[in-house]
Amino acid sequence: MSMKNEYLLSVMEKVKQRNPGEPEFHQAVYEVLESLEPVVAKHPEYEKMGVIDELVEPERIIKFRVPWVDDNGKVQVNRGFRIQFNSAIGPYKGGLRFHPSVYEGIIKFLGFEQIFKNSLTGLPIGGGKGGSDFDPKGKSDMEVMRFCQSFMTELSKYIGADTDVPAGDIGVGAREIGYLFGQYKRLRNEFTGVLTGKGIPYGGSLARKEATGFGLCYFADAMLKDHGDSFKGKTVVVSGSGNVAIYANQKATTLGAKVVAMSDSNGYVYDPDGIDLDAIKLIKEVRRGRIKEYVADHPKAEYHEGCSGIWTVKCDIALPCATQNEINEESAKILVKNGVKAVAEGANMPSTPEAIATFQKAGVLFAPAKASNAGGVATSALEMSQNSQRLSWTFEEVDSKLHGIMENIYKNAAQAAKDYGMEGNLVAGANIAGFLKVANAMLAHGVV
Ligand code: NDP
Repeated sequence: MSMKNEYLLSVMEKVKQRNPGEPEFHQAVYEVLESLEPVVAKHPEYEKMGVIDELVEPERIIKFRVPWVDDNGKVQVNRGFRIQFNSAIGPYKGGLRFHPSVYEGIIKFLGFEQIFKNSLTGLPIGGGKGGSDFDPKGKSDMEVMRFCQSFMTELSKYIGADTDVPAGDIGVGAREIGYLFGQYKRLRNEFTGVLTGKGIPYGGSLARKEATGFGLCYFADAMLKDHGDSFKGKTVVVSGSGNVAIYANQKATTLGAKVVAMSDSNGYVYDPDGIDLDAIKLIKEVRRGRIKEYVADHPKAEYHEGCSGIWTVKCDIALPCATQNEINEESAKILVKNGVKAVAEGANMPSTPEAIATFQKAGVLFAPAKASNAGGVATSALEMSQNSQRLSWTFEEVDSKLHGIMENIYKNAAQAAKDYGMEGNLVAGANIAGFLKVANAMLAHGVV
């Protein structure tokens, strides 16, 4: 952590002053700016035209009240957010997160990361993110529906198929997207691809549900292959048990690995025989239950309270797929001591800066989220293309495009790192490759 460039340091200082009490946003910005040092040294035009000053300031922040009525007839009030961060290369695109921890700083960090991730996909999508401090956990379907309708009543004023296209994230899955889409259609009297992650009967893309987890493994596989290795015969730990985690497990298993542990926010399960993914899908996707229920039918498996303990499970490959900052320095040191060979991030910013430094110092192959979890948004962009064409592609067609996109992201990030004298550093490579396209588009547009 030692940025020296005066221009970048001054931008960072301003970010901290203008966005007090938002440590996740500061962390995300610092990581990108640090990677850009050799870029601004080589290209003074970015400083001259204030590109980075503009980049760290969202184009628009929308914050709104979301009132709804619970099953007891009581009025509840939540907060809604949509941050339209950067539209230099396409309409704003990024998920909605419903989780009690959501506040402006979380949405800002996610929206900022999204700019570079979307650029890396090679598709024409800008960066945005949104969400609410609403907690879908423990709510009835009708409560979730009323909340989503109220949320969309306000959000619908600011989004559109060519303006801003939200998708899912933590706490926003097929059920929530369905209610949100239904309300948008009712309010606007139009059937357009205004959301992605939609159900298949009403314009969703095959393979979107699987895309982030599958894409993560395609990226990790490309990284491993580049170092003469693969998933075959490896022991893998996947944190989380939501959308990303489930399909990361599925693809890692298909590629020949054994996933021995998964978690939720309460604890983790360890199964030496390999996690029975159908059981996890039943508990999490169908019953909306807790992961500890797994041990009831799996006598050899163990359940441990506390989700961070999952990183003490010995593995060759770690795939953090739950939430931000879930691997700290201590957990990273344990993983290294236990012989981890590769870490690929499925969640957004799951490793703290100290954890990343620990992996890099130990020579662990490290795939940063911006690059390795871009498969979800890439497939969302493919869903937008299908909606525009009024066509649906087959699962195989979408999956094969996703595979190609992830391999390209790996190649481009690895090449950018090499070009700027940081060979093997995919954190820097992904930040630089993602930045250049957006920055050049901003330069072309002038100061706007
Ligand atoms: P889900 O809501 O489907 O699943 C989230 C999982 O992570 C659950 O197992 C949840 O446990 C766990 N989790 C959530 N918050 C915490 C926490 N504070 N501490 C510990 N565990 C937690 O979300 P997704 O799978 O969609 O998202 C997971 C990550 O992947 C997020 O970082 C998201 O931003 C990122 N991502 C998602 C994409 C997508 O396409 N869905 C695309 C790119 C990135 P519990 O059930 O107990 O809450």
